This record gives sequence, structure tokens and C-alpha cells, in this order.
Amino acid sequence: MGSRRDFLQNLTISAMGIPFLNLKDGSSGLTPEENAFANNPEETEAAAKTDEYDPHAPILRVALMGLGSYASRVAEAMQQCKKAKITGLISGTPSKIQEWKKKYSVPDKNCYNYENFDQLKNNPDIDAVYVITPNALHKEQVIRVAAAGKHAICEKPMAINAKEGEEMKAACKKANVKLLVGYRMHFEANTLEIIRLRNAGEFGKPLFFQGLSGFKIGNPNQWRMKKELSGGGAMMDIGIYSINGARYMIGEEPVWVTAQETKTDPAMFTEGLDETIIFQLGFPGGAVASCLSTYSMNYLDRFFLNGDKGFAEMNPSTGYGPIKARTNKGELNFMHITHQTTQMDEMAAILLEGKKAIVPVDGEEGLKDLKIIDAIYAAVKSGTKIPLAL
Ligand code: NAD
Repeated sequence: MGSRRDFLQNLTISAMGIPFLNLKDGSSGLTPEENAFANNPEETEAAAKTDEYDPHAPILRVALMGLGSYASRVAEAMQQCKKAKITGLISGTPSKIQEWKKKYSVPDKNCYNYENFDQLKNNPDIDAVYVITPNALHKEQVIRVAAAGKHAICEKPMAINAKEGEEMKAACKKANVKLLVGYRMHFEANTLEIIRLRNAGEFGKPLFFQGLSGFKIGNPNQWRMKKELSGGGAMMDIGIYSINGARYMIGEEPVWVTAQETKTDPAMFTEGLDETIIFQLGFPGGAVASCLSTYSMNYLDRFFLNGDKGFAEMNPSTGYGPIKARTNKGELNFMHITHQTTQMDEMAAILLEGKKAIVPVDGEEGLKDLKIIDAIYAAVKSGTKIPLAL
């Protein structure tokens, strides 16, 4: 993926979304409608003109675990994937299984609940499980997925602290399966272009990053407001975007962190549930990041990178899109593609073809963010600067 032209072309290809299957029984696995679409000569000709299109590329067969609001978004986005397909479902709610299995043509034999999903080990129709449940459940679920011999894709935050993240990484390594984290922005066109421009020296030496990540939390009874399920407050949920963004926008790993917390509603944001945290990260090249994570303000989704020659601004920066980005030279105009469609096609290539992501999405990447979150909470408590060794 060299030039901007190549990159745009690849994105256009991703948008085409022709699902081809390569099931172990040798059948295409396509429905008659899909077959008709796949055999459309116009589509085939258009596809043949592209670099990346390979009708024989293996298809990643994914079981979705936790059929909530984000899983719904992922499932819809996957309908446009050409390298990944939903072949399994895991839920504790039988009525959801009934509804989803019809909607996505998933056979009964590929449907599980939270008690019996270890049986995935006997199911050759599933390559990977995408864990999309409350944060504090990720560790145990990923470890069970690994023990069943399946690759794990885990939503962010990968776990609720670095110790858990280490255990997950070790379990996946032991089981010889891969662990990926649902960092959809790592495949987003504007984001990757800014990273490319920074690497090409367009902004000069990166010196400052500002990340603003927040929204007003609604229902106080949701799992996000229960520490035993969320592991924390806004930082775990939305502040992590500024942490992760500071790292990929500056292009270095931070070496220290300081942080301060404020609460406007201590009755709602009880001990361990952060409402607003401002934090600062120091980088080895001399850059600093100043970030805000909050559950008490809307319209906070902005990244700003300044170097000694130029700047990049993204606003919105990590929402579902379209992302808007500009540099000191003008606006970037990338076509919007549903983030989760690109993410799942790219993850298929990573898991099945050994492709390397430009910005990693592996367990190590998830673990780095967890180490920073641990350090931010420690800095809030102690009021001191906490060194980081990532
Ligand atoms: P949600 O509440 O809409 O869905 C959670 C699902 O988990 C539900 O189907 C629920 O039934 C199930 N579940 C299983 N065990 C549960 C338990 N013990 N308690 C509560 N629910 C249980 O939440 P969501 O917004 O879909 O978030 C799920 C995960 O996805 C979180 O880790 C979140 O951080 C992540 N997420 C990521 C993005 C992104 O853009 N990458 C966006 C939203 C959410």
C-alpha cells in the first residue's frame, strides 16, 4: 500500500463487498442470491481490474459473541465484507439467537450460549470469535475462545487492567491462536493518511497532540456505570481513544503520564467510576499530549497534531464517521466506508493471510493501552508523574 492513489483504490475495492466463501467442504457457501451477484460478469470484470481482489482468498468465518448494540453495527457492516462472514452466534438470550440466526442465515449447529461455547472446539465452520460483551467479561471469554482453538477478536478495552491483558495474551500464545483488538480507526483512511504524512515528514517533528474524547452518558443503570462490568468509567470506554490516538498520531510510545480527575456528580460517578479525567503523556522525542476523557459532555471527538512544520486536525476523529480531517495544506477527502466493514476484511487478511496492519491491532497493542490506563488511574490517586515502559 504505497501511494495515496493505491490506498484510495484499495478502499474502493473494500467497498465493493463481494462475499466469496471457501468452506472446508469445498462448496462456495453462497446463497443463490449471493451466487448471482458473485457471478455477475460486470462485477467480476471490475474486480479483475483491481490489485487486491482475489476470489480465491480465504474467507474468515466469524462467530459474534454478545448480540448487543455494537454487535448489531458490526453484523450489518459485515454484510458488505468480501473476506469475512458471520457463521456463528453466541448469546445468553435465546430470542436473540432466533432473530439473528434467521437474519444472518446461521445454522442451529453454529449457535451457542455462554455455558456451552467451549464446544466451538468441535466446530470446523468457525475460525474466529468476536467478543463484543461488557469489558470485564472479555478476559475470561477470550481465554475460553483460545482454549477452543479459535482466533479471538476482542472489543476495546481489551480487558480492565494490564494484568488481565497479559493473561489473555499468554493464553492465546499457548493455544497458538491470534488475539486482535477491535481498533477500527487503525484501518480508517484519513487516519492512515495522516500517519503516512507524518512519517513522510510533512508536519516536521511532532511536538504536541491534543485528544478530546467524550460524550454524555445516558441511562445510569447500564453496564457502563457498573464498575464490576465496565472496570471503570469514561476512561475505559471513550478516553481510550485519546490514549490510542496520541500513540498513533505522534508515532511513539509515551514514557510518562500525569492525570487529574474531576467529578460534577459524585453520587452518579461513585468510587472507581471516572466521570472526567484530564491526562498528559510525555514522549521520548520531546512531544507532549494533553487529553480529556469524559462522560459529562457531548461534542468531544477531536484530535490535533502539531509539528514544527505543520499540523493535522481530525474533527470528528474517532466516531463512526464520516471522519473529517485537514492539514495545514488543506482538507483530506477520503470516501467514507463503514469502519467495521474495512476492519473485518483487514482482520481476515491478518488472521488468514498473515497480513501486517500499518498500525497494529494485536494483543500487544491492546495491552499497551491497558498499561497506560493503569498508570492514569495511579497518577490520579497519587498526584505524581508515573513512568511508563511500554
Ligand atoms: P451492549 O450493552 O449494547 O451489548 C452488550 C452485550 O453483552 C448484550 O448483548 C448483553 O446481553 C451481553 N452480555 C453478556 N453478558 C452480560 C452481562 N453479564 N451483563 C451485561 N451484558 C451482558 O454494549 P455495547 O455497546 O455493544 O458494548 C459491548 C463492547 O463493545 C464493550 O466492550 C464496548 O467497549 C465495545 N464497543 C466498541 C465500540 C467501537 O467503536 N469499537 C463501540 C461500542 C462498544
